[in-house]
Amino acid sequence: MAWARNILRVNLTQGTCTSEPLNMEWAGKYLGQRGLATKYLVEETDPKVDPLSPDNKLIMATGPLTGTCASTAGRYSVITKGALTGAIACSNSGGFFGNEMKNAGYDMIIFEGRAANPVYLLINNDSVELIDASEFWGTSTWNTEDGIKKKHQDPLLRVASIGVAGEKGVKFACVVNDMDRAAGRSGVGTVMGSKNLKAVAIRGTKGVSVDDAPAFMKAVSSGKSVLAENGVTGQGLPAFGTQVLMNVINETGALPTRNHRDIQFEGASDISAEAMAEPRESDGKPNLMTNAACFGCTIACGRVSTIDRTHYTVKDRPEYQKASGGLEYEAAWALGAANGVNDLDALTFANFICNEQGFDPISFGATVGAAMEMFEDGVLTTEQTGGIELKFGSAEALTQLAELCGKGEGFGAEIGLGSKLLCEKYGRPELSMSVKGQEFPAYDSRGIQGMGLTYATSNRGACHLRSYTVASEILGIPEKTDPLETDGKAGLVMAFQDATAVVDSAGLCVFTTFAWSMDDIGPQIDAACEGDWSIENLMACGERIWNMERNYNLAAGFTNKDDTLPARLLKDAAKTGPAKGKVCGLDKMLPEYYQARGWTTEGVPTNETLNRLAL
Ligand code: SF4
Repeated sequence: MAWARNILRVNLTQGTCTSEPLNMEWAGKYLGQRGLATKYLVEETDPKVDPLSPDNKLIMATGPLTGTCASTAGRYSVITKGALTGAIACSNSGGFFGNEMKNAGYDMIIFEGRAANPVYLLINNDSVELIDASEFWGTSTWNTEDGIKKKHQDPLLRVASIGVAGEKGVKFACVVNDMDRAAGRSGVGTVMGSKNLKAVAIRGTKGVSVDDAPAFMKAVSSGKSVLAENGVTGQGLPAFGTQVLMNVINETGALPTRNHRDIQFEGASDISAEAMAEPRESDGKPNLMTNAACFGCTIACGRVSTIDRTHYTVKDRPEYQKASGGLEYEAAWALGAANGVNDLDALTFANFICNEQGFDPISFGATVGAAMEMFEDGVLTTEQTGGIELKFGSAEALTQLAELCGKGEGFGAEIGLGSKLLCEKYGRPELSMSVKGQEFPAYDSRGIQGMGLTYATSNRGACHLRSYTVASEILGIPEKTDPLETDGKAGLVMAFQDATAVVDSAGLCVFTTFAWSMDDIGPQIDAACEGDWSIENLMACGERIWNMERNYNLAAGFTNKDDTLPARLLKDAAKTGPAKGKVCGLDKMLPEYYQARGWTTEGVPTNETLNRLAL
């Protein structure tokens, strides 16, 4: 129960689609979604495979709770070897696509090979068909989703697609579903594009059953009460979204600014949640129209925004004057503070383009920041940028590059390399603010030490969604730790990493963990799924998943030398704010972390650890 017990295997080279039973022994060890799909990838592919080769596989996966009535249980993930990083990649998305896929009766769809010509996959429960996508190739995710619904005269189809960025090989392309929800990081959309797979469109009506319905309903109801009564999930996130963090993190002195040269941004309040709610001069309306929820979510942190019709980006362009997905904190930071841009409408426009053409605003914004620093240093000139004055603070440069990157044209195509390759190309590798090739999100590890260890050890490259120690270090969840201290951070990061692996594998949204502990999550999983899913077993499952991902990366060629941070964070002390004078103390935290993990001093899981985890 809870699992559909069914996998759809699509061989794009041969044009075949076949169903097969889910390996229930693996489900009992890896739960679902992130954990279980990674197990399939590990077993079925060579870790050294070129991410863009037909031999790499792309797996769309739901969790056992996906499609149930648990709060936020509409998630799905895309698992593959990442095009941006060459490391294990798992990008998670909300919206409604995951629920539809589970209701069509699939725990996973495994894509193999490469289609000779562009195709999309159409699923209606047991009816599965690969269809020529040439009419949609070269169009945006928005037009693809609209076009497929119209062509099949089914407005209830749920569609996940790539935009032109994914077709053109932008290294950080996303898979976008429901217009503005994305499996955003590590270039999973680039891998989808390399397979000539434009979209997956699904209708599912089968329903999802659980093992012990009365116990499940009791646990779900209790979980929803906890979310409603919690200040963050019951009030803060619905009202302000994740953007509630902009001013908080700036005051903390951990808001990376101008490619991490500074850690406080003088324009933070202009691009904050509070600014999104302020009426505009031109029409008296605010940027933020309303909040929105993914399938089954009782938090509703999503933002729906409009851009001022008189703004230079959308004047005479009615297609961008409609309401669409607004700025979340990470996007607002990457498009704004990382580049020194404080024009809220320009940021909202760039965010629309990221959704429309399917690319990750975090990696895009951070790469523009690195390019701006190279421009200011004279390494890049207008000759290379196609005439764009790439100065920090230039909203025009940001929005021009968003449009060019989305189409893979001009200097936008170079931005589409990501900061690591771009900075290497121009001889300034130290200016790429990344780990394992993936750009940092919105927290500077000089001001929040635990995030430095989080980034350095993250299996998918720099990422806040593998261990969000900001919860403890800034918000005091589940208990307050000092953000400027390194003591105790190894254990904290490890606990967050393992618990997050469980949440991601269950089919839940990680934002629930602002309110839920494993005492709330465990009973929901245990009641829904067969087998013993005690909290102890769940945490062991999370640790097993983490070590499996680690082993995949080691086999792919990564070593402990990749568990590091750019020199700027390790050597250049913060200039302002509470962290003034601090660097990230990774050298102290990392050996403690290896030891806590049961790894050698070279960061390799010992045989004892592997045996303990039944790996
Ligand atoms: S908390 Fe936000 S991101 Fe998570 S499921 Fe709800 S609306 Fe979606």
